[in-house]
Amino acid sequence: MTSNPSSATTYAVVLIGGGIMSATLGALLRQLEPGLSIALFGRLDDVALESSNAWNNAGTGHSALCELNYTPQGADGTVDISKAVGVNEQFQISRQFWSYLVERQIIVSAKNFLTPVPHMSFVWGEDNVAFLRKRYEALSQHPLFEGMSFTTDEGQMRQWMPLVMQDRAPGQPLAATWHPAGTDVNFGALTHRLIDLLASKPGFDLNLAHEVEDLTPTGDGQWDVAVRAVHGGGERRVRAKFVFVGAGGGALHLLQKSGIPEARGIGGFPVSGQFLRCTNPDVVSQHHAKVYGKASVGAPPMSVPHLDTRVIDGRQGLLFGPYAGFSTKFLKQGSWLDLPRSIRMDNIGAMMAVARDNMPLTKYLIQQVMQSSEDRLKALRDFVPTARKEDWELITAGQRVQVIKKDAKKGGVLQFGTEVVTGGGGSIAGLLGASPGASTAAPIMLTVLQRCFADRLPQWEARLREMVPSYGTRLGQDAALCAQVRERTRTALQLDG
Ligand SMILES: Cc1cc2nc3c(=O)[nH]c(=O)nc-3n(C[C@H](O)[C@H](O)[C@H](O)COP(=O)(O)OP(=O)(O)OC[C@H]3O[C@@H](n4cnc5c(N)ncnc54)[C@H](O)[C@@H]3O)c2cc1C
Repeated sequence: MTSNPSSATTYAVVLIGGGIMSATLGALLRQLEPGLSIALFGRLDDVALESSNAWNNAGTGHSALCELNYTPQGADGTVDISKAVGVNEQFQISRQFWSYLVERQIIVSAKNFLTPVPHMSFVWGEDNVAFLRKRYEALSQHPLFEGMSFTTDEGQMRQWMPLVMQDRAPGQPLAATWHPAGTDVNFGALTHRLIDLLASKPGFDLNLAHEVEDLTPTGDGQWDVAVRAVHGGGERRVRAKFVFVGAGGGALHLLQKSGIPEARGIGGFPVSGQFLRCTNPDVVSQHHAKVYGKASVGAPPMSVPHLDTRVIDGRQGLLFGPYAGFSTKFLKQGSWLDLPRSIRMDNIGAMMAVARDNMPLTKYLIQQVMQSSEDRLKALRDFVPTARKEDWELITAGQRVQVIKKDAKKGGVLQFGTEVVTGGGGSIAGLLGASPGASTAAPIMLTVLQRCFADRLPQWEARLREMVPSYGTRLGQDAALCAQVRERTRTALQLDG
């Protein structure tokens, strides 16, 4: 990846961080206003080396086809699908944006970052089977989830997931759902593609190995951005009319430094992740699905165990996990001091309240950290009864920083979603949290546009509708448009549903 030299020190837009979020926002802005001057600063030597890297996340195109945590069951036994509908609607926006890029030949093909991989849910035990049946009955009625199949038949399950069914102990009630519209996404490849695209046109300065150290309002609605060249070369200051803090785990720190009141009171709780990876072709060839199970008690929603087919740089592999861990770092390549440094007078109360109120989570994390390799293998064997230790290696994934926010009743609450923080009259935006994550980069960045570029939206609206035909509507409430969007994006992206 090359950088374009530039003499300009004032940019219309400064993107901080070289992950999927900055890349998506840059690509959207470039389509909407090709003349904008944009600079990107990333502290590492390449883009997509943190959470957006292919092996640092699970690559699931989250659309609630298989993730059971998006369909909670109420005390009366009913299954609430509203969150699942919202997550699917968001993924349909990503599908539309990617389709636009492919249809216009801005990206030649989706093949190098997107692979159709069926999404499955798999449960055992009578209560879980009853829950999955109810979930299926509720979702399969909905146009966004049309195409889902349900079974309790082991023969059918053997066809869908032979590796999972091989040598499975008899006598346990089992159930599974299957959806062909599932995807495996290489978010690292997509990030590279989008940033290469930006860098191929004038008006974009790519500054890798440049760490943003400070953000100061200039008093005239702009930002003074202090940047340090990581491999020597000293400090630089640039001006920005708009700053996007897409620094992943580094975003909280920078938002705190910006001094915007909207970032006050927010804290971060890092949860690290590990996966078991298998690249043995004999094992890999027996599985083609993303199979999501049920979370254990106390586990945070993103720790639901799953066995995933991954397709990275044309090669197929399997991933199982995640196993949660605890590290005080906010970035995989961050500092042990990240957590202590993030504690301030304005957020300490909320953080203490979260520590007090989340004992099951603390217990769960301690259990996870204490796990031996035998314990990890045991969890894997719930999904792959024939798993052999020698076929699976432990890899460390990215860091997620969960958002802690003040709460009038409890003092502080831990959130597992994504939070867009904007301030300075719309001159700065930052992204905190990591779920549903990279899958929803396009809709999240549309939110950033709505909140920070409201004055330009009327001018941009027609182009936004070209990029995302469902823009401004809820696909879940328009069955005809939903069918049309699903079919168009299925064709453009060469998906199976
Ligand atoms: C274990 C795990 C599994 C996941 N699974 C999925 C999944 O299956 N599906 C899904 O959709 N999402 C998943 N996610 C979430 C997803 O990976 C993230 O939401 C997404 O990658 C975040 O992108 P980002 O651009 O915000 O951050 P990142 O990709 O982390 O990029 C941040 C960038 O900012 C840079 N940076 C940081 N500080 C500074 C600074 N001061 N100056 C300059 N640059 C800076 C970093 O070097 C990096 O380039 C997962 C995450 C984890 C950790």
